[in-house]
Amino acid sequence: MTIRQLPEKISNQIAAGEVIERPASVVKELVENALDAGATRVEIATAGGGLNLIRVTDNGSGIRADELELAVSRHCTSKLGDDIHDIRTLGFRGEALPSIGSVARLTLRSRVADASSGAEIRVDAGRMSGPFPAPANVGTIVEVGDLFHATPARLKFMKTVRAETQAITETVKRIAIAAPGVHFLLSGTDRSTLDIHAAEDRAERVAAIAGRDFIDNAVEIDAVREGVRIGGLAAIPSFHRANSLAQYVHVNGRPVRDRQIAGAIRAAYADLMARDRHPVVALFIECDPSFVDVNVHPAKADVRFRDAGLVRGLIIGAIRQALGTEGIRGSTTRTADLASAFRMPESAGGYQPSGDFARPRTDYRPDQSPFRPLEGFGEQKQARFEAEAHEAGETAKAIEAMPLGAARAQLHENYIVAQTEAGMVIVDQHAAHERLVYEHLKGALDNRAVPSQMLLIPEIVDLPEEDCERIEAASGELGRFGLVVERFGPGAVAVRETPSMLGKFDVAAMVRDVADELAETETTAAVRNRLDQLASRIACHGSVRSGRRMSADEMNALLRQMEATPGSGTCNHGRPTFIELSLSDIEKLFGRR
Ligand code: ADP
Ligand code: MG
Repeated sequence: MTIRQLPEKISNQIAAGEVIERPASVVKELVENALDAGATRVEIATAGGGLNLIRVTDNGSGIRADELELAVSRHCTSKLGDDIHDIRTLGFRGEALPSIGSVARLTLRSRVADASSGAEIRVDAGRMSGPFPAPANVGTIVEVGDLFHATPARLKFMKTVRAETQAITETVKRIAIAAPGVHFLLSGTDRSTLDIHAAEDRAERVAAIAGRDFIDNAVEIDAVREGVRIGGLAAIPSFHRANSLAQYVHVNGRPVRDRQIAGAIRAAYADLMARDRHPVVALFIECDPSFVDVNVHPAKADVRFRDAGLVRGLIIGAIRQALGTEGIRGSTTRTADLASAFRMPESAGGYQPSGDFARPRTDYRPDQSPFRPLEGFGEQKQARFEAEAHEAGETAKAIEAMPLGAARAQLHENYIVAQTEAGMVIVDQHAAHERLVYEHLKGALDNRAVPSQMLLIPEIVDLPEEDCERIEAASGELGRFGLVVERFGPGAVAVRETPSMLGKFDVAAMVRDVADELAETETTAAVRNRLDQLASRIACHGSVRSGRRMSADEMNALLRQMEATPGSGTCNHGRPTFIELSLSDIEKLFGRR
């Protein structure tokens, strides 16, 4: 066996495999280069989801003609000095351009301010030509054609043009949110257009990217701990989304998708939000470059902090402080803990019967009870009352024999307390109803369409352009759920009909959620699976019964429906819809057993 060095072409392709995963990675690298070059305007054009063409034009410093060859050579960078721990730019590895050049047709045309004209260099599947003189404005144009034509295996892994286009849009938004002073333009035949003008400040840019309603529903974050600063905005707990795409996190201006940071955000909202919901946040962490290692992932999307615990504590503390929730404890009690929660403390301090109540009554005389029949109450009438009471008792008994029993009371306008033969059940009516609507939707799907009702005035919902496209593309499926939506100009959709079974509900919130769901399940879920997920999303919003007072008949009807519906024991989020307490448990709680 002989050990030999890999030819440059191969080693570049290997590097490319790590750095350039999909078209959006190319866009990321090129836009980062433009920002590192001090550009104030970055224009991105794509075709065929970036697979046919990606062109990034910037007005940055440009590259001198005699350095073009170095720019496309491996491990050549103008950015890194002798200290890998002192990285103040987005790029530093000198791998992006040679990687791209090894798997695509790369053209780099550039001009610096003090040159009278520009120059161009080309690399096609690792073969370099040029530089040639070429007319150019000050700045750089990088063109990438036929991405992955040199590595067909990678090409096979590409998703749909639409999915790649959306990934590119996401990438540009993530970078743009941290560079408020830069004008970003995204255009091309891929129909996804962004025009993000230079903003006065960060808040204005965050509004442009994450939406004005986020700003209106967020609190400002600002905290420092041991030289690490965190700023930005965090949504109030009621403003959440179905996925974490709307969490923008930056470390020293670099967009990151870091598990540890995501975990800290989740922890900050832990008892304020359902587990399957995601807060919208835009967080900007700034620290000394030596405090963070960005050299842990080829795409530079991960970071390692020298003191991860400090950063976690800082994130959680800053968010909770801003939300004004410091010190408020979540009071959720799990079913399993119920008994111990109920059980009185062994020592004194709990409720102790005293005085009259402590002594058993010995003076009870039934004949003097205030509840005895009134004198002069006709015998006949009495008999009829008794018969009716008996009959009612019989039906009540029959109902109690049902698994979920007979509804006896509604507490806090959401909990139905029912008596069963063996004890009692408490039903979370909102969760139960949500599940019923979901099962009903699924059933209706299996058969035919879900009945819908026309809205008096169509509801216009403003959405980011990609979301509009997702909704538009799924409008056929949505129609089958009774949700009739259509495109309403750029950045909006119009809802014309909603599923009748849902009654009145927040249509805009549901449309946003459906868009999130679509973004997440885009290419992975099977169609049916996706329909079920949409059904779940719709059911969640249609379950209006929480906070509604219900009559005994309505409550009993809900219990009977639950019994008749398979899977109704858990809501769509996996939480129980009811809990059961047997008589023997109750007796135990009272120390009778
Ligand atoms: P890195 O960004 O890690 O240095 P790249 O391969 O992305 O590596 O780029 C190599 C070099 O080419 C950069 O260090 C920079 O000097 C130059 N360069 C690339 N793109 C641009 C641009 N848009 N404007 C100015 N210089 C650029
Ligand atoms: Mg770079």
